[in-house]
Amino acid sequence: GELVVSFGEMLIDFVPTLAGVSLAEAPAFVKAPGGAPANVAIAVARLGGKAAFAGKLGDDEFGRMLAAILRENGVDDSAVVFDAGARTALAFVTLRADGEREFMFYRNPSADMLLTADELNVDLLKRAAVFHYGSISLIAEPCRSAHLRAMEIAKEAGALLSYDPNLREALWPSREEARTKILSIWDQADIVKVSEVELEFLTGINSVEDDVVMKLWRPTFKLLLVTLGDQGCKYYTTDFRGAVPSYKVEQVDTTGAGDAFVGSLLKKIVQDPSSLQDQKKLEEAIKFANACGAITATKKGAIPSLPTETEVLRLMENP
Ligand code: ATP
Repeated sequence: GELVVSFGEMLIDFVPTLAGVSLAEAPAFVKAPGGAPANVAIAVARLGGKAAFAGKLGDDEFGRMLAAILRENGVDDSAVVFDAGARTALAFVTLRADGEREFMFYRNPSADMLLTADELNVDLLKRAAVFHYGSISLIAEPCRSAHLRAMEIAKEAGALLSYDPNLREALWPSREEARTKILSIWDQADIVKVSEVELEFLTGINSVEDDVVMKLWRPTFKLLLVTLGDQGCKYYTTDFRGAVPSYKVEQVDTTGAGDAFVGSLLKKIVQDPSSLQDQKKLEEAIKFANACGAITATKKGAIPSLPTETEVLRLMENP
């Protein structure tokens, strides 16, 4: 099996039709389906890989729309369940003048937070070569327990565990709680990817020097990655480490770039797990992932910008 199972939230971002305005000033919003774990599953499938998404949606028009988007993109939705009583999560997202994204969530609670351990598709989890997740599903019960149980099931069945915390401070009761809970499952992962912002949040140090990154390293890790936007990324394994620059592109909207990076790298790893032990192969896989992230940053939105293999190879051959 080369199956990547991605677990967590899928939701709809509402994005202002006009750039650089506050949510209050926005004249109108467009729907942009997303949720990092769902984006990762679609990134894998867009590249021709095998992917499934596991999570809960509202039994409403938005929930059914999102499940259809998974299927249309070739993502297995047999681990998607619907909650009759809660709505699909919504997030209003705006790009502030300083370039940072601002989020306003509607989760009171939303369906994704209500997934229970009993609702997990155990058969699918057991078929995962990689089980990928974030930290938003750790915030509230019963989803938190479902998340922990799913990690156990996948790991016992031999999957590699892949973790991209995807920090969303606004969703946590406090920064301290976010830090503690994000780190509470740190040691179980095989592959971890953090952004520069997350590195600083988790270590308290604003630097991407190796000695700072190594504070997040654990002896059981197979791969630790720090993404650096247009600068590419740094990678760490037990035996080797390095940095891989990205490709020069015209940045329009980085939404989904991190998810494209993770999805494409996981696709490469399930295809050839020896990439984790072979520096040359790993660097090739990371170059591919950088190209995927770069392409995603050239277009608006997350899901529509995720590239096909043809697009990635075109950029890699003609940088
Ligand atoms: P996100 O922006 O999706 O929340 P993130 O902060 O983890 O996630 P980035 O570091 O912005 O993600 O991007 C992930 C990867 O995509 C980078 O490591 C890089 O390879 C590529 N990338 C992103 N933006 C650019 C860019 N402007 N030019 C070239 N490559 C880029």
